[in-house]
Amino acid sequence: MSYESEMLEKYNMPTRGNVEIALLKALLRHGGHIKDFSSGQEIVGELADEFNLSDEQRAVYLESIYMKQNRLKRSSLWHRLLFRAADALAKNDLLSNPTKTAKLINKREWMLMERGFDRALNLLNVSHVKKESLSTRSYEVQKIIKRLSNAKRPENYNPIDIRRRNVGKAKEHLIRLRGFRLAVIETYAFRCAICGLKMLTPDQLNWEVQAAHIVPHSVFGRDDIWNGLALCHLHHWCFDAGWITLDEQYRIQVSPKVVVLPKNYGKIEDFELIRTLASENRQINLPSKSEFYPHSNSIRWHRQNIFYSC
Ligand SMILES: [Zn+2]
Repeated sequence: MSYESEMLEKYNMPTRGNVEIALLKALLRHGGHIKDFSSGQEIVGELADEFNLSDEQRAVYLESIYMKQNRLKRSSLWHRLLFRAADALAKNDLLSNPTKTAKLINKREWMLMERGFDRALNLLNVSHVKKESLSTRSYEVQKIIKRLSNAKRPENYNPIDIRRRNVGKAKEHLIRLRGFRLAVIETYAFRCAICGLKMLTPDQLNWEVQAAHIVPHSVFGRDDIWNGLALCHLHHWCFDAGWITLDEQYRIQVSPKVVVLPKNYGKIEDFELIRTLASENRQINLPSKSEFYPHSNSIRWHRQNIFYSC
């Protein structure tokens, strides 16, 4: 038995398998990524608490001779166990290791791969149907977000991608859609562009705000940030239904059809959901960077094809 195994047994530490399970669950709670383990990281204490580790178990060190300099090296047994568990998950393509993740986001983090994401959902009994709306970022989704966030804003933009008719592979398509969703809601700081609502589920896994396609997905609208808008459920519905649109200055326009609505429609108690917008004629809450503003070609298409202008 190795010195490390002896120490694990002597101090009655959790098994590596159990630590792997705890790590996958923790990654889901933390949006799919956690910082590399070094002393003081929040996750190290969080998982130690989960296993009810005693002060002694948290404090015990491994001692080894550092061959090159012939000096004594001390490393935390608990850190080592966490690293071994994460490394084993990475070797099975359930996580990306900090070196690989750093090449993508310039930060040393452990990040869920799609396979690890699925495993974590199973462990927490979360339905895979829910996966598409979760705010968890996997390595594969993060790659899409990076591509969308770094793309150069085109002048001659066609918001419709006719080539997509021929795209097969449903799984890749869903990953691309999740990338679009997260890139858009992150660009709008997780708020509805119209009312500013920012809200999260109690388990912190799911934002209320949705990524709306301006030119809808059903007519092959592109999955680009310029063809997206972060909207709460209600305003998303109003936008898709043609009640509201945007003008060239990103001001909210309300369909004149609002005047034929029965008086008790479009209200939340006394609050006039749509008529208030009609009277305000104000600009939406735009992203901080202008290169991510909705493209005028997308908005024009929406005005001409979805919005009820008369
Ligand atoms: Zn809203």
